[in-house]
Amino acid sequence: MIILGGGPAGACTAMYLLRRGIKPVIVERDAFPRYHVGESLTGATALALKELGLGLAIEAQNYPLKHGATFYGPDGKNEFWVPLVRRDENENQIPNYTWNVLRSTFDKILFDAALERGAEWIKATAVAPISKDDAVIGLTIRTPGGATENLHSDVLIDASGWATFLANHRVTGSKIPGSSDKQIALFTLFAGGIRDNGPELSKQPGNTLLFYQKKHHWAWFIPVTDELTSVGVVFRTDYFKQAGLSKEDMMLRECRQMTPALSVRLPDLTPQEPIYAAANFSYRVMNYSGKGFVCIGDAHRFTDPIFAYGVFFGIQEGEFATDVIAKLLSGEIRTNENPFTDFEKLCDEGNEVVEDVIGVLWEFPLAFQRIFTWRDRVTSLDILSGRIYGERAATNPARMAIRRLMASKEVALEAEREMASVKRTALATVIIYLAHLFSQAILF
Ligand SMILES: Cc1cc2nc3c(=O)[nH]c(=O)nc-3n(C[C@H](O)[C@H](O)[C@H](O)COP(=O)(O)OP(=O)(O)OC[C@H]3O[C@@H](n4cnc5c(N)ncnc54)[C@H](O)[C@@H]3O)c2cc1C
Repeated sequence: MIILGGGPAGACTAMYLLRRGIKPVIVERDAFPRYHVGESLTGATALALKELGLGLAIEAQNYPLKHGATFYGPDGKNEFWVPLVRRDENENQIPNYTWNVLRSTFDKILFDAALERGAEWIKATAVAPISKDDAVIGLTIRTPGGATENLHSDVLIDASGWATFLANHRVTGSKIPGSSDKQIALFTLFAGGIRDNGPELSKQPGNTLLFYQKKHHWAWFIPVTDELTSVGVVFRTDYFKQAGLSKEDMMLRECRQMTPALSVRLPDLTPQEPIYAAANFSYRVMNYSGKGFVCIGDAHRFTDPIFAYGVFFGIQEGEFATDVIAKLLSGEIRTNENPFTDFEKLCDEGNEVVEDVIGVLWEFPLAFQRIFTWRDRVTSLDILSGRIYGERAATNPARMAIRRLMASKEVALEAEREMASVKRTALATVIIYLAHLFSQAILF
């Protein structure tokens, strides 16, 4: 079994395989620790990591605890809080938490754990897949010394992240732009970012903050150590081109000017890492499994970073793929066709749920707020907690509401009008209440 890539998807898949008695080889060109973007984890990711027995090692890093995310509206106004939740054994929805991590140390913990449990690491660059008839049967690699070797595989698991190795070699179907295409993200780490610090879960210092300025123009603020905060600014590529600035100057300009709610939190704009850029990060690969190969995580799809689902998908799809591989090796699955057909269907389902959530946020932000903070609050939080597969997702009322919105612009606009009217009513109530208090104060 060869896993290409030792990021979270590759390392966790190795651990899932080892649990089933299958010893994988990981082909990874980089040594860890190394910088990587993608620091905010979901609640479901924390549960999966604990279930893999990695909780203590991660806790030992003292990463900031994330209890949810606060969304700030345009110009920092109309903020709302989205908590992390999970279901307990009685199906009660209860608060959950996760970590916001420094990916350099986090990825190393996962990778080292995979090696300690029995995975073998070949430090090399994958050069080309080896195919015979209509199946992938191995991988050609180049070692750091420059030698080329051929490795045989029963299954090649592509966890190469946005390198999309098998798609680039046209083993899969085509790679097409995703719904958040033609955007660029600039990001780095800053020291001394000003965090919330109150007793409520919504004011905990480790929480993620998201600053929505307008469609496809936003910023993240993710505490990753006591001192360092990951900050990213995201916008359309043409907006960046029109500005005519270097990525360094653009990053600083957006941190200062995008919204006062962000700039006030960044007293020191000295980057603690280079300013990195990720352009055209949104894509989808079609037919990403077949005889002798399967792609997981970013190796086949990444839509948009706003809900921090990337690491989750890599780990979850690694677990799903392991199940198929174990059945293949034990003979429980016998087929001359693609054994991963159901796997692909399942992964697509989950990706589509998240893509629709992202779509509603960008297309109909008020309708999004209506669902996630009011109308379908409980069941929408289930979606964000990772319940995005199978029957539970298909019958989730929030999921169905989101589907209706995405299918009909009229339904979405009506939902937006309703939310706007609720907000006006709430504002009027506050004004009447304040006027009442004021008149009482005058009377006494
Ligand atoms: C701007 C931006 C912000 C993001 N923010 C978040 C976030 O807050 N939370 C979140 O969960 N996700 C986020 N993501 C997504 C997240 O970064 C990825 O989903 C996640 O890192 C994918 O993990 P992975 O293991 O699939 O791939 P990776 O972590 O990218 O690992 C792939 C590995 O494969 C190796 N590799 C690739 N090609 C070869 C080769 N030819 N030979 C040998 N080795 C190879 C690489 O060296 C690498 O180590 C963000 C993405 C972007 C673009």
